[in-house]
Amino acid sequence: MKRTLASLALILFGVSAVKAQLNVYYIDVGQGDATYMELPNGHNVLIDGGPSGEPVYKFLKEKGVTTIDHVVLTHPHSDHYRGLKKVFAAFDVKNFYDSRAENVDAKGDNNLRELADAEPGCKTHYPEAGDNLNWDSRVTVKVLNTCSEPVQLKYNDDVNNCSLVLRFFYNGTGLLFTGDAESVIENAMMRVFKSGLESYALKVGHHGSRYSSTSQFLARVRPKVAIISAGVDNVYGHPHKEALDRLTTAGAKIFYTPGTTQTLVIPAPKKGVAAQVIGPLPYDPERPVQPEIEVLIYTPPVAVPLNVNSVPLEQLMRAAGE
Ligand SMILES: [Zn+2]
Repeated sequence: MKRTLASLALILFGVSAVKAQLNVYYIDVGQGDATYMELPNGHNVLIDGGPSGEPVYKFLKEKGVTTIDHVVLTHPHSDHYRGLKKVFAAFDVKNFYDSRAENVDAKGDNNLRELADAEPGCKTHYPEAGDNLNWDSRVTVKVLNTCSEPVQLKYNDDVNNCSLVLRFFYNGTGLLFTGDAESVIENAMMRVFKSGLESYALKVGHHGSRYSSTSQFLARVRPKVAIISAGVDNVYGHPHKEALDRLTTAGAKIFYTPGTTQTLVIPAPKKGVAAQVIGPLPYDPERPVQPEIEVLIYTPPVAVPLNVNSVPLEQLMRAAGE
């Protein structure tokens, strides 16, 4: 038993094996967003930094991170950019991805572009919708929305709708990150990307706001799991009941970040075996292998052969599909 758990640990989080799987950490940052990812090729990604530096800094330090290959700011609202200031100060950032949206209310506070410019060896990118980001040859990373033309914005909705939306696809499994994009952008993405939105895990738009996650959008995404990042008793009332109801009706199982970072693992592809995604599960740095994982390990169903001598003819014909 001990041995099984040890080998499981190696399969799931071991140093050598970890490179072939894709790990996602929906970090508990309170009312805001921050997602850390380890790609199969060993490169890492941070999408947003949460509302303050400490939670994301603590998480990355605990993981032993020193360098981040790709840092993404979905849109210039403080619950997404503020935590990234400390990230630039404390870690080596190689690439920074930004929209060209300028939140006039964030002037003097959102200095990430300056920080990225000042970061030695860091390149800033302003991708466009439809771009494929070449981060790992085995993972498709597609930009589904952004504001790639410079635009000065004042209203929250307009800033939200500039969110850099990313979809990852690895081993038959899609992961969608919609930032704070609202229904108007969901509709636009549906028109352009159609079934290209389908994703196993949806990082729920705008912290579960009622103005995102429309039924039509969810019917396109078809999420199996939905992860909501929001603070306990936040002033916005996120997540809203309407959005939760729509997610449940769409068949998604809902997970929350308050109280725990949620982790999700897409295993390395195995010939003839459908990917069995692990999680979301609570993240515990002291105990990386959760006991629940054992029951989530994929076991291919074995069809018991029917005994032609004892089973009635009718049943045999049914089994043969006749
Ligand atoms: Zn937000």
